[in-house]
Amino acid sequence: MIPVKGMKGQKVAVLGLGRSGLATAAALRAGGAEPLLWDDSPEARAKAEAEGFALTDLTRNAALEGVACLVTSPGIPHLYPAPNPIIARALEGGIPVDNDIGLFFQSAAGPEWEEMETPPKVVAVTGSNGKSTTTALIHHILQVAGKPTQMAGNIGKGVLSIDPPVDGEVVVLELSSYQTDLARALTPDVAVFTNLSPDHLDRHGGMGGYFAAKARLFTLGGPDRAVIGVDEVEGRFLADQLGQGPEDDRVIRVSSGTKLEGFGWSVFARKGFLAEWRKGRQVASIDLRDIKGLPGAHNHQNACAAYAACRSLGLAPKLIEGALHSFAGLPHRSQLVGERAGVRFVNDSKATNVDSAAKALQAFPKIRWIAGGLGKDGGIASLQPYLGSVVKAYLIGHSARDFALQIGETPHEICETMERAVARAAEEAQAGEVVLLAPAAASFDQYPNFEKRGDDFTARVRALIGG
Ligand code: ADP
Repeated sequence: MIPVKGMKGQKVAVLGLGRSGLATAAALRAGGAEPLLWDDSPEARAKAEAEGFALTDLTRNAALEGVACLVTSPGIPHLYPAPNPIIARALEGGIPVDNDIGLFFQSAAGPEWEEMETPPKVVAVTGSNGKSTTTALIHHILQVAGKPTQMAGNIGKGVLSIDPPVDGEVVVLELSSYQTDLARALTPDVAVFTNLSPDHLDRHGGMGGYFAAKARLFTLGGPDRAVIGVDEVEGRFLADQLGQGPEDDRVIRVSSGTKLEGFGWSVFARKGFLAEWRKGRQVASIDLRDIKGLPGAHNHQNACAAYAACRSLGLAPKLIEGALHSFAGLPHRSQLVGERAGVRFVNDSKATNVDSAAKALQAFPKIRWIAGGLGKDGGIASLQPYLGSVVKAYLIGHSARDFALQIGETPHEICETMERAVARAAEEAQAGEVVLLAPAAASFDQYPNFEKRGDDFTARVRALIGG
């Protein structure tokens, strides 16, 4: 745990008692502060009490009197579409509103870091897609390099739950836009921006607010090195804003698809090869095509971002290349579940929207596509350009019939259930094809969450093919 610094003897209100809220309360207490805990949900309150925390009803008018700071959870709106009433009251009273990420950056470093041979470093990853994969990949590469490392934030543990970093350690954080929007301190050594596409716009008052929330990671703390995906105009703008010009190698530009040879430092993937350029010449090249854990152009973008972050930490290209090969992939994101008679089975249950499903459909040449669930607004008509690789679709869930109407000429079968879809796809698949779960829909019609849906797919595939 990282005890929170600078709050000794002070009352700190903690709103939202999920995993990060309870970790925050414990870290505040360890730092000598007095946390006042509340959650609007009775279940969350009961869980906090069961873990030995006392509650304070923060909805009462006087509850914030004498409070030094209000720490909130990422799921609670602080501005849009409307501020939570407790947060609104804190803002009226001039009480600073922060989150666990802000407390982490305020508290992680201590005088002991100055005694260390190599003081710990923090790498923080944000972006619309690929955050978890890039974060886990950086962590994996560091492990292979034999460096002490911990991973936290939006993935794994809450940031304040990690162990105090040791000499030479690298802490890798995945940060969502909700987290970067609110944190009052954001001072990573290396900051990574994967890409940008519209998401969570209601919480950010539109696209401008969403981008601004992510850009704070770069503009607030001024990282030593910024790794920036420049495949969208926002990334290009951010890279230009941070650098002193195209030659400045404080910014490492990353692309999947575009040659970036004219810049100070760049890493890009084209036609399955990663290339690193620095000061006008190529420094390294890696064949990404047969890396099993990172299929498709979207994962090549993640590989480039992770590669760039690790290069900026001084790791050698050969070592990183070896580590890319041993990366198993994250569950539910283009995850290879198994292979039988030349047919691969891939679980991308996390492809809950059209954007991520489109990426998955571009990652393989011949696909038996399992799709459907609880369809989202706008339908899947925009997937039309990516259906050329689909040999046949096996449609499940609430949206099965709707999807069938929207995919036009693409051969399909209404299967309703995962059980039938897996069985039919496996029965019909030929060598060289991929049976891909990439639903383009939420899971809530048939499962509690996308993880359970992916687990169901995985279990049914394993039952069929063994392993
Ligand atoms: P995040 O943590 O940002 O949600 P994940 O790594 O969990 O990202 O991936 C989420 C979904 O997006 C998965 O379906 C995955 O296959 C897809 N994806 C992963 N990387 C990228 C990328 N660089 N660009 C677009 N989609 C991606």
